[in-house]
Order: sequence, then C-alpha cells, then structure tokens
Amino acid sequence: MTKVPKFKLGYTGGNLDRADHLRRDAQAIQVARMHPSARWLVLDDLKPVLTEDGNDLYWARRSELESEGQTIFLGLEADGSPRFAIDCPIGDLPGRATDARAAGMRLPDDRAAIIAQARSVLDWHRRHGFCAACGAPTRPEKAGYSRLCTSCAAEHFPRVDPVVIMLAVKDDLALVGRGPNFPAGFFSALAGFVEPGESLEEAVARELHEEAGIRVHNVRYLASQPWPFPASLMMAAYADADGFELTLDETEIAAARWISRDECAAVLRGDGEWQAPPPIAIAHALLANWASGTS
Ligand SMILES: [Zn+2]
Repeated sequence: MTKVPKFKLGYTGGNLDRADHLRRDAQAIQVARMHPSARWLVLDDLKPVLTEDGNDLYWARRSELESEGQTIFLGLEADGSPRFAIDCPIGDLPGRATDARAAGMRLPDDRAAIIAQARSVLDWHRRHGFCAACGAPTRPEKAGYSRLCTSCAAEHFPRVDPVVIMLAVKDDLALVGRGPNFPAGFFSALAGFVEPGESLEEAVARELHEEAGIRVHNVRYLASQPWPFPASLMMAAYADADGFELTLDETEIAAARWISRDECAAVLRGDGEWQAPPPIAIAHALLANWASGTS
C-alpha cells in the first residue's frame, strides 16, 4: 500500500469547525454575526486581506467593515469565536489584499486552508447569480452554502471540480511533462479533470493515454488537496506504465520525459536542469514521495 506522505499538503489542515448544523439556522447565524468575538476575512476581488506584515490573515471586526458584500459563514474557532468571509473592497482596513496563491505559500497551512474555503465559495457565488434550470435570479441560503432559485425553487450547491494528477512510473523512472503555457523549464505531473461517469482510476488511465499515449495499470491513490482556483479537488495517484514509448497530444503536452529518482530529488532540491512545482502543490508531494522511494 502507498504510504501517506509525511509532509503537509497546501491548503489543508484547517482547524475551524465548519459547524454545518448552524448554517440552516438563520437565527443562530445572526447571533453569531452579532457576537463580540465574531470576525470577518475580507476578500477584495477574491484576494484575501492579510495583516500588514503579510504573516497572517487580517480578521476584521464588524465595525471595520465599510461595505456590504456576499458573506459566508466559515465556522467556529476552538474557543467558539465565529468566523465569516465577505466579498467586498478592502476600504481602509490596515492590511493588504494579497494574491491567494502568494498568500497560500506564505501563511501556515491552517490559515491557507481558510483562504481555500473562502475563495472557492465566494467565487462560486459570483458566478451563480442565476438559476441554471430556469434563468431566474438565485439568492444565498444556508449561511452561504447554497443558492435557492427565486422562481422554480431549485437549490444549487457550491461546486467542487475533481482533478486527477498522476505520475506514471516504470522500472524506477517516472513521467513528467509540461503544458504549452508552462513557464520555461517547468515540468510537473500530468493532470486532467475527471469526467462524469468514470472512476478516479479510469480518469488517470484515460488522461495518461490521451496526453502521453501510454497505457497504465495498478493505479494507486496517494492523497488529495483543495486547489481554490477556482474550486478543484486535486487527487494524486501513481500508475504503472506498460511501456516507455510516448505519443504526445501536443495541444495539451508540449514536452514530456522519463526521469530517474536521483534526477527528481536533485530538481526538488533546486539543483536540477528543470523546475518542479513548489511544496504548496500536491504535484510536489507526488514527486518527493516517489523520489524517496516510497511510492
Ligand atoms: Zn430556477
């Protein structure tokens, strides 16, 4: 069985209690909003506001919020303090609106996990103001975890888009590739969206065949992470390749190569001929775990 990696995965490890039982209780949410310990994470154009030194989330008091905006209930801190996120301009808050990727790399994992939750749900609200069934306006419900159609009463829920990201391996070599739009010298594990009506294992096999022309077997799951751009769930896996010969789909893959564990380890140390994804990305864990010989 594949070992779970020892390292943490980006955007995971949040320690808020999401308190789902409160979401459908509008009165309880209102009480939480009025509680003196309630705080709001402002996302200005989906950029989380950090403290001025950039080392933590800036938790705004209710009195500091200058404008209205879509609000979601994030959950409760361990001491019961309510936490919310709001989509509104930063105004005069003494913090800085920061790109969510940069913030995710800079902050401790438990804080980055809050950014993932807030950004994905608020982004979903921005893009789902109208009912997909009948076209009428929708309104937020359940403290921001659903939208209800004002005409046909259809209920819509925040989406999560499953993505497989995988390393094909054979005889102590692993396959990495680069998309046409990747930065120069950058390679990663191959990835693709899971399609309706297929398992993760089938998605891994299909994507590797479509993109690289290889057949695989023995697909094994490693770990997953949320990737809030806008709402992916990245599911990492290894798969045993039947052969080395590649036939690339050049619209998806500009180049691909089989690498050794030593080459992979050198690249992850910043000491190789190409660049790998940073530790916040699960592709890094996929490569590091394999390079250490534990896949
Ligand atoms: Zn409708």
